[in-house]
Amino acid sequence: MDTLAILRDLQSTLDNLRTIDRDLTAFPPDLASLNERLKALETEATAKTKALEGARVRIQTMGRELATAQKDEDRARAAVKTTSQKVQYTAAIRELDEKERQKALISKPLKALEVEAQALEAALASLETQRSETRSRFDELHAIFLEEHANQVAAREMLQAKRTELEARLPPQEQTRFHRLLSNRQGKAIAAVENGTCTGCRVKLRAPFLAAMREAKEPMACESCQRILFLP
Ligand SMILES: [Zn+2]
Repeated sequence: MDTLAILRDLQSTLDNLRTIDRDLTAFPPDLASLNERLKALETEATAKTKALEGARVRIQTMGRELATAQKDEDRARAAVKTTSQKVQYTAAIRELDEKERQKALISKPLKALEVEAQALEAALASLETQRSETRSRFDELHAIFLEEHANQVAAREMLQAKRTELEARLPPQEQTRFHRLLSNRQGKAIAAVENGTCTGCRVKLRAPFLAAMREAKEPMACESCQRILFLP
């Protein structure tokens, strides 16, 4: 089989796989709603995990700032104890007040942040419980759904094996090109030429290009949409 034949076979294998995947994800309402719920729980858990990570980083930074502020306060307190002259004593007291105030500026928001982090941890634990409950109910119904669609499941396995086998027979650069086209061209990497026109993008091909295509040993790409062309 030449490269073009493999590519055409691969394209039709993928088209069939897509159809089957659509059938196998067309869930009945109960399964669909469990699936939606699972996705929503996962999205929420991801957002909360991110928020918790952010809070933990800030807690660490503020913890270090608080330690420094504490040292400053301790130093100021020691200065108050060792000062005997009245003028210096007043200044030392004022300094201690200031250091205490600065420490409070860090410790209060830090406390609030710690409370916030704890709330996030609790929320995440509860989400995890909900997620695993929803997951097991989903898995149960999904297994039944798949049993009811045993033919499609078997066909999907066969097609997946065929895809792997066909891909293995393609030169690596053809594989890369094919997959890039699939993602850039709505899942259609291959297009037939009909009446001198690329059926992928409906652009009329130039006569010399068509002539070259008939002679070519390697697959040629549409000059307009880059899909790999074949003459039916
Ligand atoms: Zn085209």
